[in-house]
Amino acid sequence: MKLELTDAKKWINLFVEKLENNQATLNELDTAIGDGDHGTNMDRGAKAVTDSLTKKDPDNLADLYKATAFAMIQKVGGASGPLYGTAFLDMSKAVKEENIELSDLIQVGTDGIKRRGQSDVGMKTMIDVWQPVSDSLRADKFDQSVVDNALSKVKDLVATKGRASYLEEKSKGHIDPGAQSSAYLFESLIEVIGA
Ligand code: ADP
Ligand code: MG
Repeated sequence: MKLELTDAKKWINLFVEKLENNQATLNELDTAIGDGDHGTNMDRGAKAVTDSLTKKDPDNLADLYKATAFAMIQKVGGASGPLYGTAFLDMSKAVKEENIELSDLIQVGTDGIKRRGQSDVGMKTMIDVWQPVSDSLRADKFDQSVVDNALSKVKDLVATKGRASYLEEKSKGHIDPGAQSSAYLFESLIEVIGA
């Protein structure tokens, strides 16, 4: 399946809304295994995305994803800002030629995070949500259970990238904050495509 402009806008708007509503949860998760700012960072980014899309309502997918990317790069900060920013910037480039399959779009974003973060699956990061979402979309098996399973798996992992990796074994038993914010992203997608 492909995501058209109207649905893609709904997707981003729902994500922004979830980030604003769950700022405290994301900060709590980051307090346990990081420095406690992931919710604050993402909330700042969320407001910047809304500002940008209100100022100029994008009339194509590439501009929508590019505006999202720029707002995140400029305002989220931390490790996660450039990572989400790269994902959306790469996705913006990928939809330029033609509207690509949703599974391919999410894989492009995932690959962008991997490249920028020099990271891969199993390191207890947001990638541990992005990759299974991309895989399940390709297999036409994407639904809430994919997100739930990804979060429960990420909880048991030992972090080997990002701030949480300083805790080594002690990072086990906690949900990674970036994995949780990515879960909000894909729960928003489920609401839009009705998976
Ligand atoms: P910071 O760690 O600088 O305080 P945030 O708290 O906003 O930044 O974001 C932390 C999240 O970023 C982590 O939970 C993790 O999901 C993600 N992250 C950090 N480093 C990497 C990396 N190298 N690759 C992929 N994701 C990463
Ligand atoms: Mg942090």
